[in-house]
Order: sequence, then structure tokens, then C-alpha cells
Amino acid sequence: MTTPNSLSCHVSQALRASIAADVFVPGEHGYDHARQAWNLFADQQPAAVVFAESAADVARAVKFAAAQGMRIAPQGTGHGSPSLEPLEDAILLKTARMRRVEIDPATRTARAEAGAQWQDVTVPAGEHGLAALAGTSPDVGVTGYTLGGGLGWLARRYGLAANSVTAAEIVTPDGHLVRADTDHEPDLFWAVRGGGGSVGVVTALEMTLYPVRQLYAGALFFPIQRSAQVLHAWQAWTGTMPDEVTSLGRILRLPSLPEVPELLRGRAFALVEAAYLGDAHTGAALIQPLRQLGPELDTFATIPAAALAQLHMDPAQPVPFQGDGALLADAPAAAIDALAALTGPDADTSLASIEIRHLGGALARPARDAGAQPQIDAKYVMFTGGFTPTPEAGDTVRAQAQAVKDALAAWHAPYDYYNFAETPADADAVLAPASYRRLQKIKATYDPGQAIISAHPVWPTTR
Ligand SMILES: Cc1cc2nc3c(=O)[nH]c(=O)nc-3n(C[C@H](O)[C@H](O)[C@H](O)COP(=O)(O)OP(=O)(O)OC[C@H]3O[C@@H](n4cnc5c(N)ncnc54)[C@H](O)[C@@H]3O)c2cc1C
Repeated sequence: MTTPNSLSCHVSQALRASIAADVFVPGEHGYDHARQAWNLFADQQPAAVVFAESAADVARAVKFAAAQGMRIAPQGTGHGSPSLEPLEDAILLKTARMRRVEIDPATRTARAEAGAQWQDVTVPAGEHGLAALAGTSPDVGVTGYTLGGGLGWLARRYGLAANSVTAAEIVTPDGHLVRADTDHEPDLFWAVRGGGGSVGVVTALEMTLYPVRQLYAGALFFPIQRSAQVLHAWQAWTGTMPDEVTSLGRILRLPSLPEVPELLRGRAFALVEAAYLGDAHTGAALIQPLRQLGPELDTFATIPAAALAQLHMDPAQPVPFQGDGALLADAPAAAIDALAALTGPDADTSLASIEIRHLGGALARPARDAGAQPQIDAKYVMFTGGFTPTPEAGDTVRAQAQAVKDALAAWHAPYDYYNFAETPADADAVLAPASYRRLQKIKATYDPGQAIISAHPVWPTTR
């Protein structure tokens, strides 16, 4: 079978000859499986898929693409696939087989190959009483998440994951493997810490781990009819919390699926989820103002740091999903009302989840020697989305997510949070202007021909 994006037989043979890794091209058995992303709604149609198994494979694939005038789209899991531009002329370079992780308890650091998922780091780190700045989901990729900032349950205490990166190994668009850290390749080191993956293909990241053996964390579930009351109370409560508490308020409509616990199956709730870096006694006192509202279900307990991966109840398997987010300079009572009106008990909506995460704390202070996202100049961030098994469902969810964003427009920060912007957008829409300008210059130095496709494109300029 020949498709418009097929490589010629000659070129695909040359690709296979130049790289030991598995290669799939359109029309071949295995191509459809190989091109799939975690987000099953993404219909990626690359000219070829390469499954790199080592940094050397990555370098060979990048050199091959450069020689052929093709573009390269690095991908770990495909959680970030919705924002990608079309891949018809590109090699989709999958790093999913590069999942080796080393934990060094003596230096409290981890080295994770580019395809590692967060659970590959948090579980072995936890065995040493250490925690990484992982996000809410165990199978999100360490690399994509960290390159885009990285907002997790320890964020208000320790900041964005990107600013805990101590070194990155990167194959530059000309195919050379370099190490970027405070002493080498300062521009690349700055760029990958929050500026996304536009300057090269990362093959491994090293990062700081934190001495967190356990935390007091959990969720309070209230009937959805109480959404406005619960979200107002949560929002007021966030203003009183120390940096050790990271929390979110949420409206959640759970599907009627066997994997959802019976008590929750097919039901809708208003929730508060929170993690407190400290003991249960103090944590319980901090949570008390919300607990006294009388939740239907209260899961707060002392848990090991690695168990934070279950707190947000993210889907455990690939799903078709559409969503979008917005950074909010603030979320006063009027913003909560707007949100509850569109997504609360009376709403006719396909949005399965809408959450507002509390920022501030360490996130609001410029990190020392930071990368492209030194701090977040917004008090809250919103993310909403729903399951999209059909194209029509995709249209509906996209429109409803946009309606939520529009309803909150009065409180939008000047730009969005990189990792939560799932509608295709250039990087100037998800970074502070000064960061974007510096990134454009670095792009002009390392990738003037825009060989690397990233979640949010950067337009090179030397000015
Ligand atoms: C269920 C779910 C939960 C989430 N929870 C959080 C959360 O708690 N906090 C948060 O901040 N974000 C969260 N996100 C957003 C997530 O961080 C982004 O979607 C991120 O891009 C995913 O990274 P990935 O590597 O898994 O995805 P991928 O789609 O594989 O990668 C995303 C992008 O990262 C870049 N990239 C990936 N690998 C490389 C590489 N080796 N070299 C260069 N560039 C590369 C590419 O530009 C790629 O398009 C969540 C997303 C989902 C779907």
C-alpha cells in the first residue's frame, strides 16, 4: 500500500540500514500500532516511526533525518500529542524503550532515560525515602513533563520539576550527543528546563530528589450538588495554607466502568485533593475547615510519597481525551461561580473533569539558576477535559472546554501553562515574553531549519 506520507522504498531501506532500532513505515504491518500515542484521540500519521533503544539510536535517527531534509518529532508516551502539528513529513522518534532509571541515594539524585515514566522514578526513589517532583499521573513521561515545567504534588514547596534538573543529555539537531549542565552548553541547559523540547532530542535527565518518605494526603468527596459551596470554601482556604500544602478543587464525573470503585462508579462529585508535607496531626488540623463541611468520603491518610500517583485518579490506560487549560492570575468568588455554572450539577456537559490547582509558594518565587520557567506569575491554573471516543465527541468536548476558558477570561494570566495547553499553540502563548525571546535565539543557533517538532513551536530569530 502506498500512502501520501510513505517514504520511498529506497529511503526506508536506507533508514533501516543506518539504525539498529525498529522502524515502521506506512502500509507496513505494525505501523498503526507504532504510531499510536497514549492519547488515543491523536491520529498521528508520520512518514516513519523509529523506536530508539539508546542515545546512539537517537543520534543516528536525527542524522538520518537531517541528511534527508526530514523533521523529527521526539515522543515518550504521547500524553502531550494533542498539541502536535501534523507529522506527515516527519520521523516520529519514540523513546518509550529507553526507560532505564538510576537512583543515587548518596547524592539524592536520579538519572532517567528519555522514555522513563514517572512511576519508574518515584517507586525506586521511595525505597530510599526520597521523592521526585512527579506529576499526578504515574505513566506520564518524565521528559515531556519536565521539559514543559512540571507541576506536581510537592510544587508549592519545591517548585517546578524543570528547575530541579541538574543535567540533560541531548542530541542536537545536527546529530551530536552533548551534556548540558551548569558548566556545559548553558543555553541548551536553560532551554530544556521549562522551554519544551524544541532545541534537540533529550536522551536522559538528571534531577534532584527530596527527602520525603511519607505525607498526609487524600481527597474529600462531596456530592456534585455542593460544588459551589465546596469550591468557594476551598478557594478561601488556599489563602491560608503554608507552602507545604499543594491542593486542587475539582468537579469530577466518573464513568460507569468496572475499574472505577463501586461507591464512585457513574457518579459526580465536587472534590478537594491535597498533599501536606508533614505529619498527620498537623495535616488533619490544616484540613479541618474543609473536613467540617461533611464530605461523603474522606481518604486522607499518611501515605508513602510514591502513592501520590493514585491520588488524582488519572486514567490507568491510554484513552481518547481532549482538554485544555488556562493560567489564572486569580480565581475569586466570581470565577468560581462562572465555573460552577458551566460544569456544576445543573450543567449539560461532556467534561469529565474540571480542576483548579493552587499555585503560589515556591512556584511564585524565581528559582535560583532557573531555566525557561523561573516562576509562575499566576495564583491558580485550570484544566478541564473529557473522553472523546468519536470525532463528534471531540468537537463537543473541545467546544465545552473552550467555553470554560472563555468564562474565565477576565482572570486569565498573560500566557498559559506549557503542559496544560493542549490546543495547538506556539511557545509564545505558554511562556513569559522574555523566555520566549531567549528561546527564539537559542533555536536560531541550534535548529535554524526547525528540524525538531515540539509540543509548542518556537520560531527562530537572531534579533
Ligand atoms: C493524564 C495526564 C495527567 C497529567 N498530569 C500533569 C501534571 O500533574 N502536571 C503537569 O505539569 N502536567 C501534567 N500533564 C501534562 C503533561 O505533563 C504533558 O502532556 C507532557 O507533555 C507529557 O509528557 P510525555 O513525555 O508523557 O508526553 P509526550 O507526548 O511523549 O511528549 C510531549 C512533548 O514533550 C517533548 N518531548 C518528549 N520527549 C522528548 C525528548 N526525548 N526530547 C525532546 N523533547 C521531548 C516533545 O515536544 C513532545 O511533543 C498531564 C497530562 C495527562 C494526559
